[in-house]
Amino acid sequence: MTDGQSLLLIFAVLYLLECLRWLPPRCFLLLGSGDHWHFRTAFQPVQLAGGSPALLAFLPPLQAHVATLPWLLVPASAGLEIRQDRLRPLLLSWEKVQPRADGRSLHLAPGYRIRCLSEVHARHAQEQVTCWISLTQEARAADFLQHAQATLEAAPLLELTASITAQTRQLRWLSHLIFIWTFVVLVILYRWLGDTVEMLWATAVLFMLQFTQAILFFRRAQGLPYRFWKALAIALLPQHAMRAADHLCDFNTPCPSHPLAARAQVGEAAWKKLATELWNQTRYQPSATSNLQSLALERYFMAQEVPLTALETVPLQQPGSALYCPGCLAQFQATASHCQDCHGTELRAFNAPACTVTPDS
Ligand SMILES: [Zn+2]
Repeated sequence: MTDGQSLLLIFAVLYLLECLRWLPPRCFLLLGSGDHWHFRTAFQPVQLAGGSPALLAFLPPLQAHVATLPWLLVPASAGLEIRQDRLRPLLLSWEKVQPRADGRSLHLAPGYRIRCLSEVHARHAQEQVTCWISLTQEARAADFLQHAQATLEAAPLLELTASITAQTRQLRWLSHLIFIWTFVVLVILYRWLGDTVEMLWATAVLFMLQFTQAILFFRRAQGLPYRFWKALAIALLPQHAMRAADHLCDFNTPCPSHPLAARAQVGEAAWKKLATELWNQTRYQPSATSNLQSLALERYFMAQEVPLTALETVPLQQPGSALYCPGCLAQFQATASHCQDCHGTELRAFNAPACTVTPDS
């Protein structure tokens, strides 16, 4: 491998590292810009320090991103339910709950902590749990329902995606240019010219582009912490210059939106798929807060004019299967009774009517 090839490989690895995010495992990233967004989930099988990796869009067209998050903490009468990942939710009795925000982590008790989207999100969650400790269960449930409806509001998320699109438009446009100059133009020129003075001029053009990106970023990133140092990194390092817009996208509100709030952004088909998945998981997977969460979702779907029967689909029966899991729609033979993947959800027969269970029942 020549020096030029080694340098290119190092750039590519550093660039991919810049595209990596360590997020709460149940986080849904919205990637896109303008009116076109799509979901990307974190890779839950890998978990370290309470987070899972997620890769941003690393090839052109470079996209903006916004993080959304289902409810991680839900109050039950027996304790606080922690829904960190797809595994069985943990129930921590109220006597043991002692919330303490530490950076992006929220420590709830020794051995129990969740990863939040940002420090401001962790502090907000700490205040919420502290408030719940002293309340009665009725008051906690009412507060949770109010919080849930606020996170499901479409308007704040629409405003955020529109503002991020506008703020990052020029940065992303210049990022494309720097990406193509680094990984395409310079590679072709190096093969053609080798180590010559002309090659140095081509590299100087890259630095000019990076410097322009740094100035653009500095002007856009008013109020962002470490603005000067980030701008300096953008001016000096191509991988930072290509991902300059991410610094503006990583901004998080104290109360992140629920992924279902992105109905207008992701389109009807993707939203319906997610709504079906989340409704069935919430309704049928056994949990201490299943009824409370279902009530929040039911109110939301009612406001969205989506009947619950439209979300409770029966899968197409495969040969040999007699039962299906209403939580994950996996199919089973007649001898099975519960779905282990869904923490013991009771299976249904294909010929049984898909009855709707009201959360109050
Ligand atoms: Zn299942």
